[in-house]
Amino acid sequence: MSPRTAFVLPVVTTAAALVAMTGCTSTETSGSDGSKVELVKSGKLTTCTHLPYEPFQSRQDNKIVGFDVDLVDLVAKELKVTQEIVDTPFEGIQTGEDLNARKCDVAAAGMTITPVREENLDFSDPYFEATQALVTKKGAGYDSLASLKGKKLGVQQGTTGEEYAKKNGKDVETVQFEDLALLLTAVKTGQVDAAVNDNGVLFEYVRKNPDTEVTAEFETGEKYGVGVRTGNDALRAEINKVIKAAQSDGRYDAIYKKWFPAAPKN
Ligand code: GLN
Repeated sequence: MSPRTAFVLPVVTTAAALVAMTGCTSTETSGSDGSKVELVKSGKLTTCTHLPYEPFQSRQDNKIVGFDVDLVDLVAKELKVTQEIVDTPFEGIQTGEDLNARKCDVAAAGMTITPVREENLDFSDPYFEATQALVTKKGAGYDSLASLKGKKLGVQQGTTGEEYAKKNGKDVETVQFEDLALLLTAVKTGQVDAAVNDNGVLFEYVRKNPDTEVTAEFETGEKYGVGVRTGNDALRAEINKVIKAAQSDGRYDAIYKKWFPAAPKN
């Protein structure tokens, strides 16, 4: 073995070991205008999300489905790759940590565009409008934050709903839950008197759980965006292009009708 080969070999081995360890290697795919879009995993558009957040993302028959899933599938199709979804806590998604750690290419989690989040990740153009809402057991009689004085109000960790409730719920005791399912179970079992979350998910829940009701909506004027790593303009541009095209060619409306069959759009 020549000294040169002896030197090169360990380097190659290390690179191979790294790929084996992380299970992935950085790769590029061509955007529709020929620009290079970098992906964390070859042949995949990897999405970070936090389950369950029905109807945006939830597991049904061992498959992850929902509005956000269908929307990101359109982007994956445009890039000629397939979407792979990683279920991970919302905190790592909204702080941009998961994107920075190359855990995923995009974050699609019914995530509201906020100035603080914009410092830590970049958002696509808005793709969905939302507002905060209040859910209770049917007939419980709480229809405002004021009516919950001295009562327990469930909130979901790290969300805009938690922020809204803490800021506006005077003398209301907020109780934090890690995900939407735990939050809504707490309402059902009476562990909390009410809960705050986004209107889309709460209307879906009460539709399926007629012993609960949405008693108020708070006009927070939120807009969801798909997150990418700060500075990943090539991917962000692809997402924006797909959203725009889908909104004008009927694909967006079809996805909307599929996941919100009861709600006439606008
Ligand atoms: N839209 C809310 C937020 O961005 C909730 C998102 C979620 O819980 N997945 O904070």
